[in-house]
Amino acid sequence: MARSTDILETPIEYLKGVGPARAEVLQKEAGIYTFYHLLYYFPFRYVDRSRFYNVTEINDDSTWIQLKGKLLSLQKIGKPRSQRLSAYLKDDSGIIELVWFKGIKWIEKSLEINKDYVVFGKPNYFNHKFNIPHPEMETLEDASTAIVEKLQPFYSSTEKLKARGLDSKGFRKIMKNLMVQVEGHLPETLSVEIISNLKLIPRREALISIHFPPDNKILDRAKARLKFEELFFIQLNLLKLKLLRLEKVKGHFFKNVGNYFNDFYHNNLPFELTDAQKRVVKEIRQDTGTGKQMNRLLQGDVGSGKTLVALMSMLIALDNGFQTALMAPTEILAQQHYKTIMKMLDGLDIQVALLTGSTKTKQRQALLKLLGGGDIHILIGTHALIEDTVQFSNLGLVVIDEQHRFGVAQRARLWEKNTIPPHVLVMTATPIPRTLAMTFYGDLDVSVIDELPPGRKPVKTAHYYDKDRLKVFGFLKKQIAEGRQVYVVYPLINESEKLDLKDLQDGYDSISRSFPLPDYAISIVHGKMKSKDKEFEMQRFVKGETDIMVSTTVIEVGVDVPNASVMVIENAERFGLSQLHQLRGRVGRGADQSFCILMSKVQMTNDGRQRIKTMVNTTDGFEIAEADLKLRGPGDLHGTQQSGILDLKIADIVKDEKILRYARSAAIQLLEYDPELLSEKNQAIAKHLKQINSSKTNWSLIS
Ligand code: ADP
Ligand code: MG
Repeated sequence: MARSTDILETPIEYLKGVGPARAEVLQKEAGIYTFYHLLYYFPFRYVDRSRFYNVTEINDDSTWIQLKGKLLSLQKIGKPRSQRLSAYLKDDSGIIELVWFKGIKWIEKSLEINKDYVVFGKPNYFNHKFNIPHPEMETLEDASTAIVEKLQPFYSSTEKLKARGLDSKGFRKIMKNLMVQVEGHLPETLSVEIISNLKLIPRREALISIHFPPDNKILDRAKARLKFEELFFIQLNLLKLKLLRLEKVKGHFFKNVGNYFNDFYHNNLPFELTDAQKRVVKEIRQDTGTGKQMNRLLQGDVGSGKTLVALMSMLIALDNGFQTALMAPTEILAQQHYKTIMKMLDGLDIQVALLTGSTKTKQRQALLKLLGGGDIHILIGTHALIEDTVQFSNLGLVVIDEQHRFGVAQRARLWEKNTIPPHVLVMTATPIPRTLAMTFYGDLDVSVIDELPPGRKPVKTAHYYDKDRLKVFGFLKKQIAEGRQVYVVYPLINESEKLDLKDLQDGYDSISRSFPLPDYAISIVHGKMKSKDKEFEMQRFVKGETDIMVSTTVIEVGVDVPNASVMVIENAERFGLSQLHQLRGRVGRGADQSFCILMSKVQMTNDGRQRIKTMVNTTDGFEIAEADLKLRGPGDLHGTQQSGILDLKIADIVKDEKILRYARSAAIQLLEYDPELLSEKNQAIAKHLKQINSSKTNWSLIS
């Protein structure tokens, strides 16, 4: 084997116990190419092998547990396409079912009836009893010989990895081999100063103990050290980016607040601003008046009045001779913004235009000409705004609504076009826990609207089972009789799924039967419709011509119909928490008491039940966001958030808030006296930062 200068760079293939075939699956399935990658493939759990539970001890609060018992039976159940594998395990106290839905063939082959097993998994309540879905299985024999460590590490694996013998046990074996190789080659990555200030253990000790902890105390210290390190380097990157922006990137200087703003404020403001709105407008004024580029994230729960703040910021831009753009994620939402803003600016001499994918070519050309000549003040639209053909005469501010739907790269394109980039205000209605915001947007400044406009009554939320549908329909009729309108929403997990559309169609049919013409009028909107038809149906509802809007989640974002006071969510157990919260935010916008009714089957997963419980218990978006993070775990996050950036290996943004704060302040302190990391004592840090960045995310895309 060639001696590389850094042994951690050695291709994984050359590790004892790996070889070419295993190397290939390690690369494909786990992104492990080198010794380094394997070293940082941390266990996701440790099992205290001295603790076994009894089947009868399992209750609603049980999380991951270890059982010991005899496998009584093993049976495939159901039609081939929707088959599951069911096994029964008996211990001294009782019997429990184990089930698998995937990888059935392989699992069936690997198990033996009448053998004693150690079973590890998370119980689930289903059909009035507990079972354990997809448990990890080890024969008692293997398990006992493996009891070398009291705290046994478990590594996540996949069917393909397992097929190559790389289950947790397999990983443990190669990890031991790795330790022998690298033990003497794990240099420190933090400065002596930071290590002693924060009383961290050395990196070498942490990396060894995280895989093979001698006891819980050392494991905790190893975790703390590695979490700190991970968060510290993320913060360092983000803060360096911010420094760079503040020092190197010029911004447009918005010197004055002038007539546009003042006329609007004194003549057109439809209501008194909330204190939170005032504060945020002030923050934006300050930012844009420094000559530096503003990069601000505006968080505010659904209905908190972000649009108005956006508009007032845009007016400041106009007052300083600049154009502005407002970008929305969907056409419907762009149209809604256009209408809202036109209405608010009524009587003022301000040119507003709408540009979306469906703007006709001729109209578009005319519009672009006006835009290039500086004759359009505010351009509102969808992704169409960032096409290369769209040239502003002098773009001073870009507002991006519902940011989570825009790719990072798309945002970046906006200011690539200009030498002095426009100020950027990113608005999001998906509440992000503070910790997450710090990790994700650590380079942005954050404003929060933490107050709803006065007079809003919190939406009353209730949960009903499908069998109570008639009762729910009765309630809807009462509401409609009082002049209210109703949403009925169906989940659409994948727009191509025929099944979902069928659910929607069946629902529509049943509603049509229960709410017949001419007494009731119903709109239906779903993702398969042409956008023209969608818009037509939406408009009928917006204008109050229909009483009920039956739809898939296309209405999730933004639509504002104050007279709609009831939101019925079908199959609510299938929605994620943040989606449920967004949907509920569609009602409660007028003065009337609003209601959200969550419909579900009786049978639900524990998580589904928890989500519904959370929704019934609170309307606070931040509380819901925290609950969501806790339920899904940070491991699930990078699939749903902007991918790649938040690729945390060990830190948990919910639980590690304190460490995150330490990491952030250590990074701030460091950059204050050594922004370029040139000082001798910070060379370990500089070197590691370089290493991380050469192999990971393109940080420059974040802002
Ligand atoms: P979001 O933050 O979800 O985008 P919107 O900007 O759509 O919220 O505002 C929600 C509703 O609240 C709109 O109907 C808007 O006109 C109204 N609104 C906004 N600010 C205030 C305020 N200060 N007082 C009363 N109503 C307000
Ligand atoms: Mg909005």
